[in-house]
Amino acid sequence: MEKEEKVKILQDLIKIKSINGNEEEVAIYLQNLLKNHGIDSKLIKYAEGRSSLVAEIKKGSSHRVLGLTGHMDVVDIGNEELWTYPPFSATIDGDKLYGRGSTDMKSGLAAITIAMIELKEADVNFDGTVRLLATVGEEVGELGGRQLTELGYADDLSGLIIAEPTNYNLVYTHMGSINYSVVSEGKAAHSSQPQEGFNAINHLNEFITAINAEMAQIAEEYPDSELGTTIHNITVIRGGNQVNAIPGEAILEGNIRSVPTYDNDKIKAKLQEVVDKVNVGYDYKLTLAIDEDKISVQSDKNSTLIQTIQSEFETPLPVIGIAGTTDAAEFVKAKNKFDFVVFGPGVSTLPHQINEYVEISNYLDMIGTYQNIAKKYLG
Ligand SMILES: [Zn+2]
Repeated sequence: MEKEEKVKILQDLIKIKSINGNEEEVAIYLQNLLKNHGIDSKLIKYAEGRSSLVAEIKKGSSHRVLGLTGHMDVVDIGNEELWTYPPFSATIDGDKLYGRGSTDMKSGLAAITIAMIELKEADVNFDGTVRLLATVGEEVGELGGRQLTELGYADDLSGLIIAEPTNYNLVYTHMGSINYSVVSEGKAAHSSQPQEGFNAINHLNEFITAINAEMAQIAEEYPDSELGTTIHNITVIRGGNQVNAIPGEAILEGNIRSVPTYDNDKIKAKLQEVVDKVNVGYDYKLTLAIDEDKISVQSDKNSTLIQTIQSEFETPLPVIGIAGTTDAAEFVKAKNKFDFVVFGPGVSTLPHQINEYVEISNYLDMIGTYQNIAKKYLG
């Protein structure tokens, strides 16, 4: 495929507005592109207007499967006036291609799709299957990753490359993420007669004091050598509605970034334990809800997959851990264990920002790199 066509495909993808939804339009675009090059694919419906896509190419007789995955959704554009070029115009300026999703991660998505097409069309041999997994809703709960995993599309993987932007770093581990909320039921009363009510804010405050102490202790006692310590923050708090009334209800939300040394199950048990402790002796209760639960993930730092990628570069790439979560948190729940790495075009600090861009040279380079990796890995 010519360079110009590769760039145009990326521009086409960026022009499709898939802000937290509408991924089906992206999936259909990819399906047509693959079809034009003789590759069948399947749309996996998630919801109205939202479908993931799965496609495969196979050579030889090996059962080895290399997965290439990327998400099709992008995050909101923020204040459009702050963008130098309209966020869905996919404007090119020198080596930079600007637009929402250019880095996170339509360049990765386009690169793995085109790599697959070129692998099929080129006169090269490999032994095994390359499977493309394009997902919906990664930014809002890794919805497509979860659905495809539940449907078994990750069960037979030997290795998986998540093409999120890593700027020539190899990410073998990342933190998990838990969102939780605590509702405090109290009893409203006039502030001159507090004995007639129960102050929901005060009760919630007891939880805040207790959980902050517990989480600080966990951070200290269970650090991860690569990712650092568990991070906990209460990020939202609401309660009361009038200054001279005892608040009858209060609610807080918190976010925790978890590490493998103190996993999500332990954290959830700890949250419940603290709630139960703070509830002792009161008729009015705190209630815990877990709103999002993404596990931390860790692959082998010296896996065949990572060694294969390193063999493509003269100077070994840094093998690192990151705080953010990816679809890996869902795919690793597959029936069998497999090696994975997050490795894709784009600068890892640019996602979700105004004036997001990808360097075209980086994008084009990764298309070739993915092919070389696949050939060697399935060699
Ligand atoms: Zn992303």
